[in-house]
Amino acid sequence: MEFDYIIVGAGFSGGVLAEQLACRRGAKVLIVEKRRHIGGNCYDCYDKNGVLIHLYGPHIFHTPHKRVWDYISRFSEMHLYHHRVLGLIEGRKVPIPFSLATMDEILPKSLGQRIEEKLIKQFGMGKKVPILKLREENDPDLKFLAEYVYEKIFAFYTEKQWGLKPEDLTPEVTGRVPVYISWDDRYFQDRYQGMPVEGYTRLFERMLDHPNIKLMMNTDYFEIKDEIKAKKKIIYTGPVDQFFGNCFGELSYRTLDFVFENHPTERYQETATVNYPNDYGFTRISEFKLMTGQISPTTTIVKEFSREAEIGKDELYYPMFTDEWLGKYKKYEDEAKKLDNVLFLGRLAQYKYYNMDQSILASLEAFDRI
Ligand code: FAD
Ligand code: UDP
Repeated sequence: MEFDYIIVGAGFSGGVLAEQLACRRGAKVLIVEKRRHIGGNCYDCYDKNGVLIHLYGPHIFHTPHKRVWDYISRFSEMHLYHHRVLGLIEGRKVPIPFSLATMDEILPKSLGQRIEEKLIKQFGMGKKVPILKLREENDPDLKFLAEYVYEKIFAFYTEKQWGLKPEDLTPEVTGRVPVYISWDDRYFQDRYQGMPVEGYTRLFERMLDHPNIKLMMNTDYFEIKDEIKAKKKIIYTGPVDQFFGNCFGELSYRTLDFVFENHPTERYQETATVNYPNDYGFTRISEFKLMTGQISPTTTIVKEFSREAEIGKDELYYPMFTDEWLGKYKKYEDEAKKLDNVLFLGRLAQYKYYNMDQSILASLEAFDRI
């Protein structure tokens, strides 16, 4: 059977492009997906206690892009949800990212006020300052604050998550959770934030429900690639190094071990996510009901344990964002650019720290170019 496009992977990167090509071009599309389900890492399902869980870790939708928000709203009603995170610091659970609200809870009043004034004077109210940037300050009060935040929030969490110090990663990684000179205690400030009312999987089902889209599930593309043909293009959203047979060596990724627990109580913790920068082996605990808004007599939480991924065995969740690994990726990127008939898209194919909305935008823009 011949298709116009073959898409490898049924996550947002592949799914959005499939939908656009089928609906707007009338193209015939085959999606090959090695898992038993669609949705990629955004897949959700009900556990045996009837609680809606995200099998590959908590996924909160947020975007500054109206185009992306309008796009996903076509496939699901979104319920308003603003994510809030607490972090256990010195026995107290305080707002993360570190903000004026956090400082108010942790520091003595007079010291807090003095530092607040200096932060506002130096950076401005409402500004977000990455911790590695704050550490460059010379003022003794700001230096004190920077060291405090670095030690108590970033150093051990980053060690657990990446096996590295914050400064050994590219600055964008810890820059995702900057010191926020504001009283706003939300994790994200994007204009559009919410959760799909019936879950992500249902959203994907609607997105891919088109007579021109065929799904081949439970199939590794590399095992069947010689048997299928794309008249126009292959869109590949798996790991880029695997596509090229690891010709420049395997890239490095982090994987996560998720430990799910159901508790016979309506609510387990104060906010949907509590980070543990200094305690325990896991980085954070998330409670699904507090994000999805589901009402049920029990609740399910997930603990995340991070470690280096064993290629071929583990799920690959995070590319390694260090100069060394990005440098190695560059060789694959150059190779990918030489292939006119293959488009590399998504977190693993582009070795990028994409959030969902960024993957969707990248796919919408790729469609614009096709
Ligand atoms: P994926 O979702 O990984 O999809 C790729 C698909 O390709 C997979 O289904 C895979 O099975 C398939 N595939 C790979 N190789 C092959 C092959 N050889 N043959 C067939 N199929 C193949 N983003 C947010 O915006 N908010 C969040 O709160 C958030 N939380 C996250 C939490 C975690 C723990 C992780 C890991 C990511 C999180 N993200 C979040 C990011 C989000 O998951 C990604 O942006 C999004 O899933 C990227 O979509 P994708 O299609 O590129 O990749
Ligand atoms: N981070 C940290 N302490 C925290 C929260 C985040 O050190 O309490 C750092 C850590 O290096 C983490 C990065 O900031 O990997 C990005 O955090 P984010 O919550 O965006 O990670 P993700 O949700 O993508 O796993």
